[in-house]
Amino acid sequence: MYLGNIVELAPSEDIIKNPMHPYTEALLSAVPIPDPKAKHGRVEIRGELPSPIDIPPGCYFHPRCFYRRGLCSEIKPPLREVTPGHFVQCHFAEQIKTRKPDDIVLESGTCVVCGKLVAKGTSSVQCNCPKIYHTDCASQVKGCQVCMKWF
Ligand code: SF4
Ligand SMILES: [Zn+2]
Ligand SMILES: [Zn+2]
Repeated sequence: MYLGNIVELAPSEDIIKNPMHPYTEALLSAVPIPDPKAKHGRVEIRGELPSPIDIPPGCYFHPRCFYRRGLCSEIKPPLREVTPGHFVQCHFAEQIKTRKPDDIVLESGTCVVCGKLVAKGTSSVQCNCPKIYHTDCASQVKGCQVCMKWF
């Protein structure tokens, strides 16, 4: 539920293994996990929760969504059956590759943009593919066309 809206509806096991709505993705990633050493990609939700009396136009989640596109601020998405028995209120549910709770967190690797090493400990961002970028390089490309995540 987000601002009184059902954003995703499926058997709970499906939702946990395969969150398809960006809000569910963020909620699941915020759940603490028992092993403190386990690498676990946290998905932050940006921005404040809008006031229920000042609900945004289009998709209610768009001001905070890491995947939004132009349509999102204009048209409210219907709750649609995206895969059998799994309903999602998102225009782009088929295209978005959300981060799953057990997806890998990259600490180093080759930057997609400049092709140089992103050393462990340097400022970096990761998309869900997963691919790693220097933070500065990521700002040049704005987002990943494959998983649809904006940086
Ligand atoms: S409809 Fe757009 S803003 Fe809403 S959850 Fe989907 S991608 Fe994000
Ligand atoms: Zn780079
Ligand atoms: Zn990606």
